[in-house]
Amino acid sequence: MVQKIENFEDLKLNKQILNAIHEAGYQEPTLIQQKAIPLSLSGHDIMGIAQTGTGKTAAFVLPLLMKLKYAQGNDPRALILTPTRELAIQVQKNIEKYCTYLDLRHTVIFGGSGAKAQIESFNDGMDIIVATPGRFMDLYRNRTFITKQIKTLVIDEADKMMDMGFMPQIRQILEIIPVKRQNLLFSATMPESVMKLSEEFLEFPEVVEVTPQASTVDAIEQKLFKVPNFKTKINLLGHLLNKEEFTKVIVFVKTKGNADNIFKFIERKITKSVKVIHGNKGQNTRINSIDSFKDGDTQILVSTDVTARGLDVSMVSHVINFDVPLIYEDYVHRIGRTGRAKNDGVAITFCNMAEEYYIKKIQKLINKEIDLFKIPEGIEIEKTPFIENQEMLREIDHQKRKENPDFKGAFHDKKKKKKKR
Ligand code: ADP
Ligand code: MG
Repeated sequence: MVQKIENFEDLKLNKQILNAIHEAGYQEPTLIQQKAIPLSLSGHDIMGIAQTGTGKTAAFVLPLLMKLKYAQGNDPRALILTPTRELAIQVQKNIEKYCTYLDLRHTVIFGGSGAKAQIESFNDGMDIIVATPGRFMDLYRNRTFITKQIKTLVIDEADKMMDMGFMPQIRQILEIIPVKRQNLLFSATMPESVMKLSEEFLEFPEVVEVTPQASTVDAIEQKLFKVPNFKTKINLLGHLLNKEEFTKVIVFVKTKGNADNIFKFIERKITKSVKVIHGNKGQNTRINSIDSFKDGDTQILVSTDVTARGLDVSMVSHVINFDVPLIYEDYVHRIGRTGRAKNDGVAITFCNMAEEYYIKKIQKLINKEIDLFKIPEGIEIEKTPFIENQEMLREIDHQKRKENPDFKGAFHDKKKKKKKR
């Protein structure tokens, strides 16, 4: 029988690590930590699946620190990859915290800001690199470090890292690091297709699945509002943000343009402090926005999906999906910015008629119905402008065709015929 692990002391971690954990205020290991840490310590490849905010970072970092023990040689021995710069920074901060009493060397390298300081961080040798894939390859080609000693590869947000956008870069990295190594993959979502893809390089992985993939945390109350159009969404957003209990809010939107517009609206109409973050913002601005939101100086953060993955900000009271994410897994990650580490949270999603299709898919993914609420009295329901209406109808046509290739596309055909006449 497997021994029950209830305390960090049962996990065979050394005194230095235990001290750091206690200073961090952790009382007991979370389920993913209980299950993944012993397996990792015994050298297994791991596919770790656990809900958002349940301590996956420590689940891969703590056994890694045990394995590396102390500063050794010149060359990095572990590589941790993340999909976004902000997450890379955050993971390194975690490492720093857990390393308080260890003399391991670690660094974070990411694109969008100068490479000089990042390169210099290697001057006195390196043990752990946290990186986004692009900058990692750049500095490798630049001979900032050699990869021969890398014996552990961690891929955080693994399903995101293995989607089409990133996979070519991941393959490049796999080619330049030793084949004989331990692989640790973690995420809250893990579609079947990614599981298959991971077979390319995982060796008999132990799949540690604390809850079925894409499960959402019970502590997050999920609400849905059907809202007919953009302007009404704005009205509802304003109404909600004005409420006192909306103390720390992330508003997720699909596009950078919308993010800027909604930010301007909030800045004009709401007395709470607000910042915006998306991929077109300079890296310093991005980091400042996140820091200011983490510190509580900023109460509302308007963001594209760039912060949907991994970002750990304590006590986020509400996540508002101004629009429904088109990648269904992103819903799980977006709302997972609240309800972290056993805190409560509320996730509110606005959905127009063209987005109902995605809501159905999301509900299937998370295996849960999202509670539908009526738009509160007093909120002005605007008339849908002609163009917005046409766009939504076209989108619905597209969805129907996707479900049924024989579907004739009532909307498109009618329009074409009209034109001919
Ligand atoms: P995930 O990667 O699963 O989304 P994180 O690793 O970001 O979650 O951890 C979420 C929060 O929980 C962090 O603030 C972290 O410090 C905290 N945490 C991690 N492990 C524990 C624990 N055993 N007890 C209490 N808090 C923890
Ligand atoms: Mg994480």
